[in-house]
Amino acid sequence: MINDADHWRSRDLAVLWHPCTQMREHPDALPLLPVARGDGAWLVGHDGRRTLDGVSSWWTNLHGHAEPRIAEAIARQARTLEQVILAGFSHAPAVELAERLLAVAPRQPGRAPLAKVFYADNGSAGVEVALKMAFHWYRNRGDEPRRTKFVALTNSYHGETVGALSVGDIPLYRRVYAPLLLDVLFAPTPDAFGTADARAAAARAEDAADALARLLDAHPGEVCALILEPLVQCAGGMRMHHPVYLKRVRDLCDAHGVFLIADEIATGFGRTGSLFAFEQAGVQPDLMCLSKGLTGGFLPLCAVLATQQIYDGFLDDSRERAFLHSHSYSGNPLACAAALASLDILQQDDVIARNRDTAATMAALAAPFAAHPLVAEVRQTGMILAIELRPEPENADDGNAVEIAGRRGLRMYRAALDRGVLLRPLGDVLYWMPPYCVDDAQLALLADATHASIEEAARCA
Ligand SMILES: *Cc1c(COP(=O)(O)O)cnc(C)c1O
Repeated sequence: MINDADHWRSRDLAVLWHPCTQMREHPDALPLLPVARGDGAWLVGHDGRRTLDGVSSWWTNLHGHAEPRIAEAIARQARTLEQVILAGFSHAPAVELAERLLAVAPRQPGRAPLAKVFYADNGSAGVEVALKMAFHWYRNRGDEPRRTKFVALTNSYHGETVGALSVGDIPLYRRVYAPLLLDVLFAPTPDAFGTADARAAAARAEDAADALARLLDAHPGEVCALILEPLVQCAGGMRMHHPVYLKRVRDLCDAHGVFLIADEIATGFGRTGSLFAFEQAGVQPDLMCLSKGLTGGFLPLCAVLATQQIYDGFLDDSRERAFLHSHSYSGNPLACAAALASLDILQQDDVIARNRDTAATMAALAAPFAAHPLVAEVRQTGMILAIELRPEPENADDGNAVEIAGRRGLRMYRAALDRGVLLRPLGDVLYWMPPYCVDDAQLALLADATHASIEEAARCA
């Protein structure tokens, strides 16, 4: 009898083209793993084999797979209203979710709060929304015809659509499409890699902010917005920076009339130790993009939070001055219901506090890796822990961080899978970003698989 996993593998490869994959590597170099069901932090294969989801399925999952409260909320909503046009019509889940997101959004004393929510249906689309809003706001004002540029940070990632790719800086994703991309100004990343302590990390952040100040000075009145990933540049290899950078950026953006866009798509909803990464700097962005964990990892949805000032800039008798952007599934009721259920769990289960203990366990388990001769750095921000290996020259051209890149990355990936753990190294960086429900035994397994992965990498040297 034909093995169920083999059956699905061959049917898959006959018809599917997978994301972020050189399909030629399937199935020989890169195994393809059909998943029959999810169970908490586990992915369960057709043969019953369990794989620990060490990367929360591309950083989306918060409370575990098939979490019954979210599943039930979606089912209930599906029997009530599954989808409705959001232009001219409204529905309770979209309204309630907007109210609750605005109520918990980062606040800065003396500053008008984020006041409006615009929905899109995935992270990249939300980044496009924020960029277009900032640009269009200045167009509507009419007196700033030259504000057509965006500032982004080196080593950043904001998604794959053409606008989002333009403000990203990962060579392997960007290089091919360079002729199509927007003209973007890149400021140096505040990345604290290799700094010995928080003081040195803060100094690095101050230097990067000084460089940003010079860049903005050199382009007066040309920039409409700056976009960044607060505290952790995730796709860029889980590179982390000191929160003082966000404070400095806030001041510089204010001084230059530049909107500050927080891409909290990966960092939002408790990942960095606070509900949103921006809280740790005590400042507030003008636009904030949320996706990935927004629905607990159940359904695609994006919320772009904006200030009243930005919203008011579009109020006019002219339709062209309105923000005419839309997606068919903007604010889908099922996705909003999932997001509401996920927010309930974050509160009811006191997840942020519980994560502090989990993060401490992660730190303790990962500490010994720092002594390994192949390890350059172990770093952590909340529920993101990264172990960076000494660089493999083979990956140098593609930047620090491309998923399971090169021979070494592939072998590390397979070594972890052999131990029942999904780890997708970003270039030289192994990282843990587990669902928040992960328990101590699962974390121990994660550490064990990481050890095996590093030993495998050592054999590649
Ligand atoms: C994943 C990600 C995006 C893109 O979101 P998609 O839903 O994959 O389009 C944008 N920004 C950051 C920081 C991300 O991690």
